[in-house]
Amino acid sequence: MIFDTHAHYDDEQFDIDREELIASFKEAGIGNVTNIGANLAGSQRSMDLAHKYDFFYAAVGVHPSDTEELNEENIKALYEWSRDEKCVAIGEIGLDYHWPDPTPEVQKKWFVRQLQIARKVKLPVIIHSREAAADTLQIMHDEHAEDIGGVVHCFSYSKEVAKQCVDMGFYIGIGGVLTFKNGRKMVEVVENTPMDRILLETDCPYLAPEPYRGKRNNSTYLPYVVTKMAQIKGISEEEVIRITTENAKRMYRIS
Ligand SMILES: [Zn+2]
Repeated sequence: MIFDTHAHYDDEQFDIDREELIASFKEAGIGNVTNIGANLAGSQRSMDLAHKYDFFYAAVGVHPSDTEELNEENIKALYEWSRDEKCVAIGEIGLDYHWPDPTPEVQKKWFVRQLQIARKVKLPVIIHSREAAADTLQIMHDEHAEDIGGVVHCFSYSKEVAKQCVDMGFYIGIGGVLTFKNGRKMVEVVENTPMDRILLETDCPYLAPEPYRGKRNNSTYLPYVVTKMAQIKGISEEEVIRITTENAKRMYRIS
């Protein structure tokens, strides 16, 4: 069964059919899902989903684009949630320089702060990094992220950057972009990253694979990513599913 390690089923795009869609997962070969918080309200919704569905887990954290909502008072909620057995990671956290706001200073401050919380509560991190490779690696080194562990999700950088992340003990999150016609860079990342360091993810509702590119994404489209990965790695689709699911359980420390 496939483990979707990064999804946002709390997104309003799923309001029309969330229950039905989730009810179809088992039959579609989706065994587990981690729902990822992108802000404080989304983190609460992730916890709610993880309590509602036994095969769901939650990550709690604040995405770089939403860090302006944070202060020393409200960030304490992460500690509370982290004590829950269905909470398996701190994330998504990181840096996103695609948009001008919040400033890099604000983003860096809360990335570091949330890494420190993950260290304290002994949970892995889910790192979101876009157009910010150098600063992300710098902070990971400075904060000794190798002791914390986690994944660089929706990986968008070169194979060289992927290697640096893997060398720090991190996993590489791969999703729909792998199937895109202009996805050559991701093919190279998959070619050069050991199979035991790769996680499958949708990042749904975003980044649907071909042939659904541009549509609303969901976990039942992951087999398209599996097929492409199996071709690149020269192994069977069953092997891709088995290994990536083992990787996900190892990273999220789910037995
Ligand atoms: Zn995400």
